[in-house]
Amino acid sequence: MADPTTQASRLELRGLAARFGDVSAIESLDLTLEPGSFTALLGPSGCGKSTTLSMVAGLLAPSDGDVLLDGASLLGQPAERRPVSLVFQKPLLFPHLTIEQNVAYGLRARRAPDGSRGARGSRPGKAAVARQVAEMLERVRLGGLGSRRVGELSGGQEQRVSLARALVLRPRVLLLDEPFSQLDADLRGEMRRLVRELHDEFDLTTLFVTHDQEEAVELADRVALMLDGRLEGVAAPEAFYLDPPSLAAARFFGVTNELRGTVSAGSFRTADGALTVPTTARDGESILVVRPEALVLSATSEPHAVGGRVTTTRFAGSDVLVEAALTDGQSLRVRVPLGTRLAVGDSVCLELPPKRCTVFPQPAEEAS
Ligand code: ATP
Repeated sequence: MADPTTQASRLELRGLAARFGDVSAIESLDLTLEPGSFTALLGPSGCGKSTTLSMVAGLLAPSDGDVLLDGASLLGQPAERRPVSLVFQKPLLFPHLTIEQNVAYGLRARRAPDGSRGARGSRPGKAAVARQVAEMLERVRLGGLGSRRVGELSGGQEQRVSLARALVLRPRVLLLDEPFSQLDADLRGEMRRLVRELHDEFDLTTLFVTHDQEEAVELADRVALMLDGRLEGVAAPEAFYLDPPSLAAARFFGVTNELRGTVSAGSFRTADGALTVPTTARDGESILVVRPEALVLSATSEPHAVGGRVTTTRFAGSDVLVEAALTDGQSLRVRVPLGTRLAVGDSVCLELPPKRCTVFPQPAEEAS
């Protein structure tokens, strides 16, 4: 149920850039987060994810560009005045304070030293702070633990405190920077569910930074893939599997097949002509990408199918990953159900459904 005291906002990053001396960490980033959306900013270490969050939160001034919240620039506002909360990888709690005091800290700090009104409205009274903190601790399932010191908490509990501390300020945008990367797998799953639940309940606009593609696709409505300081593609999670926006994006999303060939007159063709797949890609040297789970083992020769010989079979938990060598020396991997009778040396026919194939121009630096 949406919280009546919050209202989701639109966050826009326009031409955002970050330079450190001569080094350009972020080139010119354009990204719009629709009100109430949950976006994962996904990318490898060092691609610029944390720098992006720092600019939104006001911890770093952009070298160029703007950050807009519901159409108004945030750049003139210092971090503490932005209606944005940031949860870090490390909880950064005050060890000498109790859980309650940690969560209440931001609310109490709302009043400036001169007693004037603080950043996000008037300072609530003592009783109101206590009530809001208690409610928030219930929501992150730490009810009844408020008087404990943070030194007595597990890693998962510490991050629940961080979430409570962020949300008690009723932010319009929630930023999370790899908040669960230090937790073990079971706990990570539980915390992901909690974050998604809180996002929905508080009607937040959320930007979640991660390098873990599984985490990104499980949590987010949209994934913004960042590579080398620029956005490689922004799409629904399944699009990265079904119709990747770029060759680099397809490669980032793990095990995939790539076949080299040539596009002409609406068809992709391998060098020996053994495989032809219709495409709307432009003419020229190309790379066809298709995921192993999209391929179909056919008994007989189908259209858009190619013959091969099994070179390896590998048990992969819920299925078997089979690799087959094609007549032109390239190879394809296909996932087949457990128990499929296939052995090294067997002849197979692999069908490539055209809708699951995406064809990209061959990058100039990869020309043979
Ligand atoms: P990670 O997941 O490892 O935190 P990231 O994707 O969040 O990586 P950033 O921390 O944003 O990446 O860093 C992006 C690039 O900017 C890196 O090359 C980093 O070295 C550089 N960088 C970040 N902050 C600074 C700084 N204060 N001075 C100089 N270079 C910086």
